[in-house]
Amino acid sequence: MIVDPLGRRFKNLRVSLTAACNYACTYCVPDGKKLQALSAELSEEELIYAVRLLVEAGGIDKLRITGGEPLISPKFDSLLNSLNKLALEDLAITTNGQFLKKKLPVIQLAGINRINVSLDTLDHMAFRSIARSGDLATVLEGIEEALALGLKVKVNCVPIRTANLDQLLPMLEYCLNKNIELRYIELMNMGHLKHNQSYEQDFVGMDEILEKIGTKYEYYKIDAPLDSTSVRFEIPDFGRFGIIANESEPFCRTCTRLRLSSNGQIFGCLSNSKAFSIRQLLDKPYPTAITELQTVLRSAMQLKQRLAFTGETTVMKFIGG
Ligand code: SAM
Repeated sequence: MIVDPLGRRFKNLRVSLTAACNYACTYCVPDGKKLQALSAELSEEELIYAVRLLVEAGGIDKLRITGGEPLISPKFDSLLNSLNKLALEDLAITTNGQFLKKKLPVIQLAGINRINVSLDTLDHMAFRSIARSGDLATVLEGIEEALALGLKVKVNCVPIRTANLDQLLPMLEYCLNKNIELRYIELMNMGHLKHNQSYEQDFVGMDEILEKIGTKYEYYKIDAPLDSTSVRFEIPDFGRFGIIANESEPFCRTCTRLRLSSNGQIFGCLSNSKAFSIRQLLDKPYPTAITELQTVLRSAMQLKQRLAFTGETTVMKFIGG
């Protein structure tokens, strides 16, 4: 097992199935331009082999499929099918929900019972101006359908001062009413935000989020697993919510995440653009590939930040959010 001097090991793998996305969220990409040609992506076979190797060489037991938007990838169905055969403790998906309703049968067939939907607002106009595409009603319909089928849904919402600050309570109440755990994600200093003053203007921290919630609800902090990214809270008689407080309460010290991008690059840290291509390993026989991959993983482990997220120009939809 690969363990660093702080005792961290890889446990959670995030696979960016594609860098392509049907949204162009203002805080994720500056103008929605394509980051990579589809032809640069790993093939279906390469991707499945890469994941199998990473699970075995890295000691991975939790896997999340993300992107870009994973549900628009032609590889989505067959990847789910193959992952189902790996002995994973947990398999989950992060999606913007636009094609959730359509893909629910495949998701259910693969035995996945947990899904995270990214949704920043319940206001139709604000939705269009943040995502610059898509349709709010379709996302809400997908969430309803997933809940009706018994899936556990979490909603991720990034508060942005100039775009959805008025949505802190409406988003919480929508989720509490549906027994969904809402997770506010503090805006990360990534991609085009890294060199843009709008980051400071738009950042909304945990204290401010809690202050707003406190105007209407009593809440208290509850325990979260050691390697959890979110600080979790309970509102008695109503439900729970969390805050991924990468700035206010950094979680680098216990980070167990590893990322595979859609073009076969390994990232050991969200806050470090240095990556290692494993593409050339994928033509090699299993024992050689495993040995070489372990060397790559040792180097990737050294990229992890010690204490706090410092920001990077890497774009979230490329590295796999
Ligand atoms: N398309 C999928 C979705 O929308 O969930 C998966 C990829 S998306 C990049 C994953 C998550 O990253 C979304 O919840 C999005 O809001 C979040 N994200 C992107 N850029 C971010 C940033 N700078 N700070 C915080 N969260 C960000």
